[in-house]
Amino acid sequence: MAIPKSTTTPRILIVFLFSLIFSTGVNAQGSITSPEEYFGFQMGTDRKLARWDRIVEYFYQLEEESDRIKVYNLGPSSEGHPFLLLLITSPENMSRLDELQAFNKQISDPRGQPTEEIGQAIREGKAIVFQSMSLHASEVGGTQMTPELSYDMLTRNDEETERILENVLFFMIPSFNPDGQVMITDWYRETVGTQYEGLWMPWLYHKYCGHDNNRDGDYHNLPESKYAAKAMFVDWVPQAYIDHHHMGSYGARFYVPPYCDPIRPYADPLVWREISWYGSHIAYKLEEEGFQGILNAAQFAGWGHFGWHWITPFHNIAGMLTESASTNLASPVYPPRTAESWRTDVPGIRGTVYIPKPLAWGMVAFEGHRRTKKIRCMVTSRYGCQEPGNHTKGSLP
Ligand SMILES: [Zn+2]
Repeated sequence: MAIPKSTTTPRILIVFLFSLIFSTGVNAQGSITSPEEYFGFQMGTDRKLARWDRIVEYFYQLEEESDRIKVYNLGPSSEGHPFLLLLITSPENMSRLDELQAFNKQISDPRGQPTEEIGQAIREGKAIVFQSMSLHASEVGGTQMTPELSYDMLTRNDEETERILENVLFFMIPSFNPDGQVMITDWYRETVGTQYEGLWMPWLYHKYCGHDNNRDGDYHNLPESKYAAKAMFVDWVPQAYIDHHHMGSYGARFYVPPYCDPIRPYADPLVWREISWYGSHIAYKLEEEGFQGILNAAQFAGWGHFGWHWITPFHNIAGMLTESASTNLASPVYPPRTAESWRTDVPGIRGTVYIPKPLAWGMVAFEGHRRTKKIRCMVTSRYGCQEPGNHTKGSLP
């Protein structure tokens, strides 16, 4: 009689625990708060901007609701706002970050390491992608996109998403200038509905450097630059980095990589070629989804200033740029409809949110498809940097 009793109890307990775990999982997936629920409007709604403090709170809420995201507060910005780094990947990868970081260190600097160990790091390591948003705070679309992009990554369960989560560690800086994000949002809210709606704020949106935080990609004087540089050049070295900007209102709807010639010398030539792979994939994906006015290999030359996206090739990272056609902050613009007009879609800021999203997604998905190849490229071009023009050491197991 003792046997049935002792086995029944654990069975009941196991069934109970299993159902608890199962139902928790279902609830966790089902209960992830959408940006619309949280902010009260769809991201990219005309004349609406989410403010940085609320966006930060939203990411922490996502971290509580999903095991696919970690939120790192890297420290205070120049004026005391939290500077965040998000990591999105599979729960399995989340549980072995130390091991994956060790592989990433071997991949990003294979000098002096046994070939067999490099081969293991290539086979078992994960692709690393960084993306950053709204470095220029008046270019509002990137940061406004991040809640929606994160939500999609946490809630989609299709084959492509599963492959991304399994193969890629996706790091995102949702605002490269939180101080400016707050200033611009407050300025816009104060002026919307007045004769000043959509005009530039009459003071600079960074206490120390105004618009030129991009040029600090070389010098790292600002706290925001120090956080980003440590994350991207020391702690984790990505195979690819992309920085999302806005440009003028009346040219192309969207600029995507690659840069046009001339490129700068000194970075490994293969890194510049990799940028073309990404650009082709991104442009194809956007046009496959029906977007028009996509420009690439034009307007922005590889020979640029040493901003973040232009300096990363010299860190052996495929560093790229996107530029959305600007709106007037969150107010729509109505460009003239001429035969030459690139602007064929909606005039409002939703365009600056919904176009970068498949673009950002496409870039991560590319890494998901090509993980081993991309990691191998990083090792190969690293050897090329040691001996310019000599990539033969890239013939790894
Ligand atoms: Zn910009």
